[in-house]
Amino acid sequence: MSPLSSPPQIAVIGAGPAGLMLAERLSAKGFPVDIYDRMPSVARKFLMAGRGGLNLTHSEAPETFLTRYGATAERLRPMIEAFSPQDLRNWADGLGAETFVGSSGRVFPKALKASPLLRAWLNRLSAQGVCLHLRHDWQGFDDTALVFSHNSETRRVTPDITVLALGGASWPRLGADGGWAAHLGARGITIAPFRPANMGFLTQWSDIFRARFAGQPLKNIRLTFGEHSRQGELMITRDGIEGGAVYALSAALRDALETTTPVTLFLDLRPELSVGQVTDKLARVPTHQSLSNRLRKALNLSPLHIALLRDCGNLSDLAQSIKALPLRLTGTQSLERAISSAGGLRFDDLTDTLELKALPRVYAIGEMLDWEASTGGYLLQACFSSAVHASTHISQSLSARP
Ligand SMILES: Cc1cc2nc3c(=O)[nH]c(=O)nc-3n(C[C@H](O)[C@H](O)[C@H](O)COP(=O)(O)OP(=O)(O)OC[C@H]3O[C@@H](n4cnc5c(N)ncnc54)[C@H](O)[C@@H]3O)c2cc1C
Repeated sequence: MSPLSSPPQIAVIGAGPAGLMLAERLSAKGFPVDIYDRMPSVARKFLMAGRGGLNLTHSEAPETFLTRYGATAERLRPMIEAFSPQDLRNWADGLGAETFVGSSGRVFPKALKASPLLRAWLNRLSAQGVCLHLRHDWQGFDDTALVFSHNSETRRVTPDITVLALGGASWPRLGADGGWAAHLGARGITIAPFRPANMGFLTQWSDIFRARFAGQPLKNIRLTFGEHSRQGELMITRDGIEGGAVYALSAALRDALETTTPVTLFLDLRPELSVGQVTDKLARVPTHQSLSNRLRKALNLSPLHIALLRDCGNLSDLAQSIKALPLRLTGTQSLERAISSAGGLRFDDLTDTLELKALPRVYAIGEMLDWEASTGGYLLQACFSSAVHASTHISQSLSARP
């Protein structure tokens, strides 16, 4: 292995939240950091997340929080413990983006957007001497050099430490398209295939239903699929459903759709009532009234609820249909439209400090690693925590060398 420069040069590829956090940590310790990104501006997905209020993390108890990462919870545990949801809140507060806990326990900056936080963050990085190199599209390795395409020219860079923070494969127009998998493949590293995560599902609406209701939300419903159940909100789309409650069940539904089509998801239109209570309330409205009137008067159901019952329900067993309306899902929305991606670099190909076993001095952080979680702040938290975790180890190993 070649000796380190003095001071050691660190290249971060990817200026999303993971790459920027790692650059902040290492530059604060006095290490020179260069960040490269293919886009003309930084953190486009982070800014897009800001359009939904920027759900930075979640306030629930640490053990519950960790369960949100499913099979990779134990891999992420040391990272989340090293930079916890409270640490993330303190960090945002320190950048003037004071946070609050919403009614669902989710944590947001009070401004409910990402741009003020990002502006303050970039000022801090600039003050710490971090150099940003935009429009630098990483093309892979050439012997020990990193190769970038920049304004139709090829640039080679040979840092001491490389940190890959290249993101997943959803919403490719925001910069991360998973193309990096081929560059690592050229070095013999295969990844867990990308799959959509936190995405909508396809179902066949009638033409009349689609024309009238696509784009409308259904609030305060409960979705149940097998042992998975979530109360919340969903959105009717032209070709199916999406939204918070759907995303919470999306991994289980996606996995099921890989072996069976269609799968049936049950929608409870009145989760606060039991089947018996629904039956009682329906019985109080005379049956000679129209179905719509009965449902509206007895249960305050809207035209959307009623159209759903007509499209998917069994009208001879109304109470049962209201409590467990079967939605037949035929597929997932595409990776391009998913909020995040599952798959990526396998933890088995990384050391505990997130260094690639096959490529010493090359680290990987953020969404490009093979973990997944639902929306709720868990995505950004894992990106930030993995960055802090890797930065701590990089800083310790560099400081330990003569
Ligand atoms: C609509 C939407 C809303 C979201 N809302 C939330 C939310 O509220 N809460 C939450 O926790 N998460 C949310 N997320 C997810 C969250 O934004 C991502 O998980 C997070 O941005 C991933 O961070 P990252 O740094 O790992 O990757 P990214 O943010 O994707 O950054 C990767 C960077 O790498 C660059 N790059 C990729 N390939 C190359 C290459 N070959 N050469 C050079 N540069 C390259 C890209 O241009 C990009 O800037 C949302 C996502 C979307 C799409």
